[in-house]
Amino acid sequence: MSANLRECSHLKLHELPATDGSPAGHDNGHGDPHSREEWVRDRIGGQNVTQMHYARRGIVSPEMTYVAQREQLDPELIRSEVACGRMIIPANMHHTRLEPIAIGIEARCKINANIGNSSVTSDIGSELQKLQLAIRYGAHTAMDLSTGGNIPEIRQAIIDNSPVPIGTVPIYEAMAKVECIEELSIDLLLETIAAQAEQGVDYMTIHAGVLREYVPLTANRVTGIVSRGGAILAQWMKHHKKQNMLYDHFDEICEIFKKHDVCFSLGDGLRPGSLADANDDAQFRELDTLGELTLRAWEHDVQVMIEGPGHVPMHLVAMNVEREMEVCHEAPFYVLGPLVTDVAPGYDHITSAIGAAIAGQAGASLLCYVTPKEHLGLPDADDVRQGVIAYRIAAHAADVARGRQGARDWDDALSRARFQFDWNGQFELAMDPEGARAMHDETLPDETHKGARYCSMCGPKFCSMRLTTDLRAAAAEPAEELAASSG
Ligand code: SF4
Repeated sequence: MSANLRECSHLKLHELPATDGSPAGHDNGHGDPHSREEWVRDRIGGQNVTQMHYARRGIVSPEMTYVAQREQLDPELIRSEVACGRMIIPANMHHTRLEPIAIGIEARCKINANIGNSSVTSDIGSELQKLQLAIRYGAHTAMDLSTGGNIPEIRQAIIDNSPVPIGTVPIYEAMAKVECIEELSIDLLLETIAAQAEQGVDYMTIHAGVLREYVPLTANRVTGIVSRGGAILAQWMKHHKKQNMLYDHFDEICEIFKKHDVCFSLGDGLRPGSLADANDDAQFRELDTLGELTLRAWEHDVQVMIEGPGHVPMHLVAMNVEREMEVCHEAPFYVLGPLVTDVAPGYDHITSAIGAAIAGQAGASLLCYVTPKEHLGLPDADDVRQGVIAYRIAAHAADVARGRQGARDWDDALSRARFQFDWNGQFELAMDPEGARAMHDETLPDETHKGARYCSMCGPKFCSMRLTTDLRAAAAEPAEELAASSG
């Protein structure tokens, strides 16, 4: 371990890339893959086992103590934030492999990676590979968005192998059980939700805010309804001439969630899919309904976060976060990007990470990554890597901007290593250590170059950091000579 890492060993609890063989960027916490079994034993069969339920009764649960340690925050602060709904700890009691995290404005900004197959590509092995890669590069949560194959089997494998919270969109699995959208029923949805809750899913996207009367508001949009869940429900409501069944039966979903401690991720089924559609009536009317549903979930002590857009120009990103906080009573905001321009397919991990950084600075708590394949195809392992890294940059930049505990120390440690030409230290501290080392070694591969006072960017003669170092040394010399002569 380099001097810089030793000096900053307190950063280990933050997001330092691991140097002990554990996944980069993922703090393995207690390291025991079954550490929660003991914590949840007494909860089995309980009628309400949510973190919010305990928090509101003044109980600091083991999960709260655990995340307090990870966040370097007071456990009592965690409890009070969970109690008022400003923070969630997604921790289904059946997901015993889980190392809990906190999502909320007091906690460090988190990122989510989506994995899961489609009906045309992918299998269990490649989904597990994507999960491991996402965790290795620093994803804090993962959503299994599988829509084909043996969905329950894939999900079980993912939960069994995941130390991070797992989210799902249950309507996808329900769709796989019927021939057409019109055959969907509330019984099928509740049965699917209950089965997933019993399996250990930590949070579920429920598009309960897509009300029948909001669908016509999308008629003149450039890109219509881009959420899969939103589009399915819109078609179901049109066919049956009924209100959204997830809205009508919301309390029944709460009853399931509170028995297992599943968090709502209240879906934005009417999110904008293009800059032209950002901030329209459909988006904001749905947001109002999500605010109403938040209060209904909280009546059951069920934890809630709110999903947000989507595609939003830069100058409107912060106001989207502020509006969510106001309308949804400060429930944590979980944003997809947002993409700040529509013109860069193939690079949407970048267009969206810009929006995500701004959203994070404004107070969004969880950033859902976007990969370079967005709009183009199902991401492969390298797309996952690129998406996760882009979003860790966004989340960390947000933590620095919000002055979160210890966030800037990481930047300062790397900058010191950089200025000291401590190349190995710089690589160890990098968000993507292997990537940084590989790029450096493309042109200066020898071990002797790890002590070089330059790199191939400017070369030895023009290395400004070397010149500055020499300048400082020269400036110090007369003073030293003077001190020596007067001594
Ligand atoms: S050569 Fe240029 S880029 Fe490389 S270390 Fe020196 S100043 Fe930095």
